[in-house]
Amino acid sequence: MTVHRSDPRPRALAVIGGGVIGLTCALAAADAGRRVCVYDAGPHARAAWVAAGMLGSLGEGHPGEDELLALSVDSVRRWPDLLARLGDPAVSAAADSLFVAGSSTDAEHLSTLAEFVWARQPRAHDDLRPVGIAEIRRMEPGLSSRMHSGYLAVGEGAVDNRRLIDRLRAALLDAGGEVVEQRVDDLGALAADDVLVAAGLGTRSLVPDVRLHAAKGEILRLRRTRWSVPPPSRVIRARLHGRSVYLVPRDDGIVVGATQYEPFDEASALPEVGGVADLLADALELMPGLRTYELTEAGAGLRPCSADGLPIIRRVDERVVVATGHGRNGILLAPYTADRVMTLLDGPAEAGRDEVATSTGGVKR
Ligand SMILES: Cc1cc2nc3c(=O)[nH]c(=O)nc-3n(C[C@H](O)[C@H](O)[C@H](O)COP(=O)(O)OP(=O)(O)OC[C@H]3O[C@@H](n4cnc5c(N)ncnc54)[C@H](O)[C@@H]3O)c2cc1C
Repeated sequence: MTVHRSDPRPRALAVIGGGVIGLTCALAAADAGRRVCVYDAGPHARAAWVAAGMLGSLGEGHPGEDELLALSVDSVRRWPDLLARLGDPAVSAAADSLFVAGSSTDAEHLSTLAEFVWARQPRAHDDLRPVGIAEIRRMEPGLSSRMHSGYLAVGEGAVDNRRLIDRLRAALLDAGGEVVEQRVDDLGALAADDVLVAAGLGTRSLVPDVRLHAAKGEILRLRRTRWSVPPPSRVIRARLHGRSVYLVPRDDGIVVGATQYEPFDEASALPEVGGVADLLADALELMPGLRTYELTEAGAGLRPCSADGLPIIRRVDERVVVATGHGRNGILLAPYTADRVMTLLDGPAEAGRDEVATSTGGVKR
């Protein structure tokens, strides 16, 4: 059924979820003239709070994930506009990423990823280029001299995710939006013309046909002391002994991440000792000077994942749109998602009109 919209008042939009997806979409809607109210259950259930904030498109290109790579490249290109809209240069944490391999076997793995990206994104030849150990040492002298080789991904940076959330909220309030600290259990009870459900894993109980699973990730925050070597100036993404570890710079230190596995118990939000130990061992091997940093936080979060790895962005019915399932890339994909959501909200109120939902609820365009 198509709803005819003749009412001249700005339409009221209720957004369920004050994570990175809900807030980015809410800001886009407020900027487009809608009356927006965000309902959020609180930070305890928010993956965006624990995340590292990497904007990795080329580095996220894994064979078989062609469509996700294309969405990621699209979204990275939109990030400068979002950063300009927020008006706070400190949200940006790094401009480029350096991929490094610990051995020839690890280097083979990285070159498989690079070949895949180059084959799918021919323009990426300029943005993803091989670098030898001498250049790695020159760019990032704090890294171990035992690294083998790597790739520089230009323009693939990172944001400070916590500052980002604060700035998105502030920008939304400045634009006339509201944020209410409240869990929503009944979409029908909301006084709004349109509803966006962007509640991460919480979406499952609000829109039951959206299928998501949780991927747990442990992550560490380290603070530099006066005796420490400085943090790297780029995101460092390493492959060591067949495992991945990354270092993401912050004003006061480094974020070290991250593990990924499906938890037995989603209620357990605490990091496991084994995950923390692996991250610390790999980070120290990559950057021995981290020994003098302080460990300020060992955290864990649950990534909201769809079955096919693609975000679920679609109309549910004439009033409700859903945006979730961003897995390991929700921060990266936030500007792309906001654009898709606005297209859905502004278009005819018919479910699935311009997009075909896959069997898993993902979106094929
Ligand atoms: C360890 C780790 C590292 C990561 N690193 C990166 C990275 O470097 N780059 C990247 O792009 N992504 C990263 N991610 C993934 C990213 O954090 C997620 O994809 C992203 O946060 C998803 O955003 P979201 O807004 O959908 O969900 P969330 O951030 O989980 O937010 C959902 C919000 O909805 C609220 N909510 C839930 N249910 C309800 C309800 N019923 N009523 C009201 N509110 C509700 C919650 O309180 C929460 O605030 C990482 C994730 C983890 C765990």
